[in-house]
Amino acid sequence: MEFPVALRQLIRVPQNVAIFSHRNPDGDAIGSSLAMRHYLEQYGHTVHVLFPSEYPVEFEALPGAADILIWDLQPEECKQVMNKKNLFIFLDFNSLERIDKLGDYVKTLPGQRLMIDHHLYPDDIADFAISEPEASSTCEMVYRFMDGMGDRNKINPHTVGKCIYTGIVTDTGSFKYATNPEVFSIVADLVARGTDDTGVQDMIFNAQTEKSLRLLGHCLCNRMEFYPEFKTALIWLSRKDYEQFDIQRGDTEGIVNYLLSVKDVKIAAFIHNQPTVVKLSLRSKGTIDVQEICKKHFKGGGHKNASGAYSHDSLKVTIEKFKNLLPEYKEKILAG
Ligand code: 5GP
Ligand code: MN
Repeated sequence: MEFPVALRQLIRVPQNVAIFSHRNPDGDAIGSSLAMRHYLEQYGHTVHVLFPSEYPVEFEALPGAADILIWDLQPEECKQVMNKKNLFIFLDFNSLERIDKLGDYVKTLPGQRLMIDHHLYPDDIADFAISEPEASSTCEMVYRFMDGMGDRNKINPHTVGKCIYTGIVTDTGSFKYATNPEVFSIVADLVARGTDDTGVQDMIFNAQTEKSLRLLGHCLCNRMEFYPEFKTALIWLSRKDYEQFDIQRGDTEGIVNYLLSVKDVKIAAFIHNQPTVVKLSLRSKGTIDVQEICKKHFKGGGHKNASGAYSHDSLKVTIEKFKNLLPEYKEKILAG
């Protein structure tokens, strides 16, 4: 990774830093944010991590997770902390809309901005923008950032390394997709240094509750629909399902992927009526670009094979809208 001299200087001289990541933070969002925090602290920076909304419980044990400030829970404290900052770092998102009110507030503040991200079509939101849509994860990029700074020795296996591994393993679905040779070199280096890779996987993937397993059973048994003509499958959840299964943040994570495990399914959709909004998650195999669908029809975004959006229509209308646009993509799906 090549850096402008000004960026190198910025990192090497202690600053007052705020690190942000996106709403509904996933393993890559929290992993990259905490890895960057532990790295920067070794240069003497004062660092706070801020998210718009809470992170799933399985990441609670990551070092520094307990210090993360959440706008939904403590907006005034977030503002006070941000007022003191002069360097704002945006990780795992590329448009200020993805951090909601934190984005509105940060716009009003002076200071330098650095973005490191792997989503498609970045907005112009930073003085220093590192955007690599081909990267597996922001954590992969964060590792290469530190490496490019000549700082492999600052990648402590139990703090920085553990957090980077978390983002890589979650964003690649345990090395099933979006991989590249570099990912394996990075992970080999982390494990050689002493990062407990199997321990991290145990922490993340063997942390299901009985309730979320029953919810998965309900989805697979009662809420799954197949449209073979379009090689597409859907799981939907209603507001009633949310109540019946007492669904909390994180409980629906990964459900959409089960649809892709069916041989002929090329597009997987998960449409669920969250308490305030209808959420849509799309996944695809091969060359099929679900990001295009989310962006064009639902004002969402993400990656070619994993994308999401929110809908302010009802669940029923959103599902119908999704089903009705499949013919438009039929040729691409069958070719993909
Ligand atoms: P998920 O379906 O797991 O929420 O998200 C899949 C991918 O799409 C993630 O990389 C996520 O950051 C992105 N994504 C999810 N929802 C939105 C959205 O509303 N807008 C944009 N731009 N990206 C989204
Ligand atoms: Mn990511």
